Amino acid sequence: MTETTGAGVQGADKGQMVYEGKAKRVYEGPQPDTYVVVYKDDATAFNGEKRGTIVGKGVINNRISNILFRYLETKGIPTHYLKDLSERETLVRALTIVPVEVVVRNRVAGSMAKRLGLPEGQVLPYPVVEFYYKNDALGDPLVNEGHVTALGWASRAEVAAIQTLALRIGELLGQFFTPRGVALVDFKLEFGRDSAGGIRLADEISPDTCRFWDATSGEKLDKDRFRRDLGGVEEAYAEMLRRVEVQA
Ligand code: UDP
Repeated sequence: MTETTGAGVQGADKGQMVYEGKAKRVYEGPQPDTYVVVYKDDATAFNGEKRGTIVGKGVINNRISNILFRYLETKGIPTHYLKDLSERETLVRALTIVPVEVVVRNRVAGSMAKRLGLPEGQVLPYPVVEFYYKNDALGDPLVNEGHVTALGWASRAEVAAIQTLALRIGELLGQFFTPRGVALVDFKLEFGRDSAGGIRLADEISPDTCRFWDATSGEKLDKDRFRRDLGGVEEAYAEMLRRVEVQA
């Protein structure tokens, strides 16, 4: 059935909803081992305390994330991406998600600035990788590699693979964004296991999950405009889509 809403056509064949998150819904896909991800315009921050809508965000994030996932695949990164289904819907491989958010930081910002009492913007001499346990009730606490393995969330080999992939993805995204005039300050990744046991990049890469600063002016072009009530939220997301779509 084709469902047409003011938010756009959402016509892909979908089974049962298996998960509803803050910014996306996940349904069983048309083939075994597939899911359909549907991007919403809903935005939350501060562990759900702040809620709102960013008009058109779902369409923009779906586009940006799929372009980046296809780019990463061409560079040898295994991901969950299979194909675009509609402006808000993407077919992905069903993975078992490792319950850890992997943050890679090129510069000090956000929670790192706060936790360590540092000014935002300080460039790090090499990227710092952090793990956060995905648990809303606990507010996604910072954990280390020992927690991840000892608590059985991932094996040592998987953690090593995740760390290597996260750093390589950071390099590749840097190569993608530098010619587009964007400084990639930090970003969050999620990984999962496929049916063969391989680790693949999952979730999304978008202005919801990255800090993007204009390389010249430092202007924020990401979800911090929503978190910090800076205004121009929709415009920033649209500007990031424009830059991602430029042939650089
Ligand atoms: N991030 C995310 N989801 C989260 C927490 C963080 O996508 O639940 C992203 C965030 O957009 C930023 C990076 O991870 O690009 C680092 O976020 P930080 O730890 O500084 O937390 P914040 O202050 O953004 O909550």
